[in-house]
Amino acid sequence: MRDKPLEHCAIFGVTCDDVAFSVSKLLYQGLIAQQHRGQESSGISILKTGGKIYTYKRKGLVSQVLTDNKLSQFWGNVGIGHNRYATTGSSEYESLDYIQPFHFKNNDIEFSLAFNGTIPVYDDIKKKMDDLGRIFVTNTDTEVIAQLIASIAIGTEKWPEILKIASKLLDGSYSLVIMTADGDIYAIRDPKGFKPLCIGELKTEKRNLYFVASESCAIDTVGANFLRDVKPGEIVHLSHQKDIQSELVLKAERTALCQFEFVYFARPDSIIDGVSVAQARLRMGENLAVKDPQLLDQEFKKNAIVVPVPDSGRSAAVGYAKQSRLPYVEGLMKNRYVWRTFIMPGQKTRKAAVKEKLNPIKSVIQGKDVILFDDSIVRGTTTKQIVSLLRQKGGAKSVHVRVSCPPVVSACYMGIDFPTTKELIAGKNKEKYGEKEYINKVRNTIGADSLLYQTLDDLKKSIGKDESQLCLACLTGEYPLKHTDKIKHLEESILKERYKKSEQNGIY
Ligand code: SF4
Repeated sequence: MRDKPLEHCAIFGVTCDDVAFSVSKLLYQGLIAQQHRGQESSGISILKTGGKIYTYKRKGLVSQVLTDNKLSQFWGNVGIGHNRYATTGSSEYESLDYIQPFHFKNNDIEFSLAFNGTIPVYDDIKKKMDDLGRIFVTNTDTEVIAQLIASIAIGTEKWPEILKIASKLLDGSYSLVIMTADGDIYAIRDPKGFKPLCIGELKTEKRNLYFVASESCAIDTVGANFLRDVKPGEIVHLSHQKDIQSELVLKAERTALCQFEFVYFARPDSIIDGVSVAQARLRMGENLAVKDPQLLDQEFKKNAIVVPVPDSGRSAAVGYAKQSRLPYVEGLMKNRYVWRTFIMPGQKTRKAAVKEKLNPIKSVIQGKDVILFDDSIVRGTTTKQIVSLLRQKGGAKSVHVRVSCPPVVSACYMGIDFPTTKELIAGKNKEKYGEKEYINKVRNTIGADSLLYQTLDDLKKSIGKDESQLCLACLTGEYPLKHTDKIKHLEESILKERYKKSEQNGIY
């Protein structure tokens, strides 16, 4: 099993008031800046005002799918794009229908949709759509959303109205970007704001452009100015003809931005809902150092070094080293050319993949007390191998694991790929050994001399948001969705079945 969870998707959109200008290269730039959010497939939908929507999507990285040659064939002043990592519907993954943007067209309506999130309980909506005679070509929540929009459109032709009604019927995490056949873009964020979504603009003498992206790093990459985040429950209308228009259509009692965006998913140069990801990670490291009992041992400190797990543990490790006044040492070399180690058949091959990817630098590790800093421990398999590598190949005297994120003890049903508690090293040990014992059991399993996790309070403090603003469900088991009971009782077998399909397909 892959150790780290994966974000499902990145979305991007751009509209330009100059119909003689093509946005295809900008779509490429916006998607490649967000490659970390989805590495299995990529695609774009593009339209020249007054013309048709053209969609091109394939399996592969952005650079493999959207080559110069391909981009030159897609010309238009409005477009959306998507990077995907698949879980729902993975068994049919080879089919283009499962790759986004999802281009929907029938006699009544045409649009293209790119989606980041998960609607965990969509079977009721799907059944209603089935009863209405709608034919589904995939088994994804993305198509459920598309079919829902198409059904609503039969009763009302105005796009904002259609989307307002659809938003009220969906319960889950969703950031959506929709491009209509008229060349308008709508950006929608669910009322709890689980996933990030932001807008930007670029005004030059010749033309005006508006952008929407999952992360602000994409807005920076295309040279645009970051304007603001899309608010939870808001629909933003980007048009090549008008200024930005927006409406807050749903207001929840609380918001629930995914804490994992700050811990791991998002790029450090992104700013989400007013918080710099890099600064939040630095504070996570500093706060952990303040609470670390190991640092009271002055003899230990004389021989200790702080080593990050590259790349995700880096920012927090800098904060920890700064606060503890210990040397920060790049003690693990990462081979940047080993891509996608998670698509590996067989456990032995996956173990070998960690060795291919990471190598300890013996000259700086040998004989040292290593404080190994990582952003999170989910399944624990990679952490165990890194600890072992540091001891056996690096010659570390001792290895002490420090983690930015509190123990991950519950499954995520909001779009991240850890569907059962049994797969979580902290979750399963907590269930088996109870609150007092389980951390020690985890430490034992990963083979560390000591193990310290961030506290929930310090995580919130580091992000600068409280429990009424963050989703912490994988850390607390409290799910901030309407149909919580339904979700908790969602048949594990269904989730397992969905997950098994991705395993059969070699996607771990
Ligand atoms: S359960 Fe965890 S990973 Fe899932 S949305 Fe909530 S905070 Fe993010």
